[in-house]
Amino acid sequence: FNVPVAVNEPIKSYAPGTDEREEVLEAYKELWNAETEVPLYINGEAVKTGDTARIRPPHDHNHNAGTYHRAGKKEVNDAINTALEARKAWADMPWEQRAGIFLKAAELVAGPYRARINAATMINQSKTIFQAEIDSACELVDFLRFNVEFMTEIYAEQPESTSGAWNRLEYRPLEGFVYCVSPFNFTAIAGNLPASAALMGNVCVWKPSDHQMLSAQVIAEVFEEAGVPAGVINMVNAEPVMMTDIVMSHADFAGVHFTGSTTVFKGLWSKIGENINTYKTYPRIVGETGGKDFIMAHKSAVPAQVATAIVRGAFEFQGQKCSAASRAYIPKSIWGEVEKLIRRDVESFKMGSPEDMSNFITAVIHEGSFDKLAKYIDAAKESDEAEVIIGGNYDKSKGWFVDPTVIVTDNPKYETMETELFGPVITIYIYEDDQFEETLKLVDETSEYALTGSIMAQDRYAISTATHALQNCAGNFYINDKCTGAVVGQQPFGGARASGTNDKAGSKLNLLRWVSPRMIKETF
Ligand code: GLU
Repeated sequence: FNVPVAVNEPIKSYAPGTDEREEVLEAYKELWNAETEVPLYINGEAVKTGDTARIRPPHDHNHNAGTYHRAGKKEVNDAINTALEARKAWADMPWEQRAGIFLKAAELVAGPYRARINAATMINQSKTIFQAEIDSACELVDFLRFNVEFMTEIYAEQPESTSGAWNRLEYRPLEGFVYCVSPFNFTAIAGNLPASAALMGNVCVWKPSDHQMLSAQVIAEVFEEAGVPAGVINMVNAEPVMMTDIVMSHADFAGVHFTGSTTVFKGLWSKIGENINTYKTYPRIVGETGGKDFIMAHKSAVPAQVATAIVRGAFEFQGQKCSAASRAYIPKSIWGEVEKLIRRDVESFKMGSPEDMSNFITAVIHEGSFDKLAKYIDAAKESDEAEVIIGGNYDKSKGWFVDPTVIVTDNPKYETMETELFGPVITIYIYEDDQFEETLKLVDETSEYALTGSIMAQDRYAISTATHALQNCAGNFYINDKCTGAVVGQQPFGGARASGTNDKAGSKLNLLRWVSPRMIKETF
């Protein structure tokens, strides 16, 4: 198959004085004051229902950054019907044509839309430009480019044939429509959930998060300009229970592509179970959900490496990554040095609006998240089993700001060692150096989730022991690195246990879920 060789989009620096910095700041100012109105996109039309909600930047929650329209039952049904209508032509469109559309979308994000998609992510999700560049621009471009390569790898997989019989696999799209439910935290994921299913010939009803509507709109515009035909990807925001009820009781519901919380995903799964006799086909259920990701250090680890892994893993984007480091196990002999380095880094961080690019920390996504974090931080301050040693303050007067916070505990099963907080809080358990193997057992026992994790060590025996002992604790396992930042085409991403179906976003394993192969045998 002759397709362009996929390469990762180079990450721009946004250093002072660079063109990209000027451009994104200009786009930020424009979007900040634009009072954008985000419609629904159904059958290629912008639909305004008049039922609107405000877009409020998390770092300045009194500012009005615009509104988004919400669908009622009618629009949800319209989106499904229009998708099914569009399916007739889309499913039969030659794969090269579909690939051409998404390769063009990649170039649009990499070029003319880059500043706006980054600015939208900075305003709506309070990401620093450095995190936005990685996640909304480059990672989305990577998904779009690499998916085309993965698609051709799938198509190339064919059975053996003999001279009298020709066996061939035809990779058909699913029979029906795919429901895509995307999270606020990664603009790239919001784009990839519908794009990957659509590339394989499926039609989609896509529900972005309430807290990501500005960048969702940019994605919808990119799809349109790239040539995704009307009705193939319909963007519909609506009250989730109402929308899910309609979507999942439809006979043509053929799959869900989900990233978000474990609780919501389990709810969707149950709903599918309840409706199983309604469907024409068993729906594909693909979900990437929560995490309680760990950093496990051995006494042979380099303290500076451990500290960097903790600081970057736990605090970049305020810890709001499914992959974020939120618990760590550090041996006593190196803890003093690690603590000193974490403290030095955290004390140098500035917190505030992403428009000021010297800020490392900005706000958490919304009031619910702020309140939850404040509650757990206060509980740790009062607990006999835990101590807040760094950070611990929060302030919601202007935005939802929570300090990068380190809790230390002597109870490895302390609440915040097990509960996903989705914020800039890490809990650390300090263990006796000679308890390495026992601590590995403990990590396994307390891993209800299994998304990401790291072992930090120089001793190869320790690395090998941990890699084996923690084999079921992380779908993405890192040796001497932080546990965030998987790159499309390099580290396919996803986890098991309560973290999801482990269908590895950014790989052909994920795309395989969006096809229903037909085996054709022709004899002569
Ligand atoms: N792929 C991202 C990473 O490796 C995490 C995605 C997520 O938070 O869902 O950090």
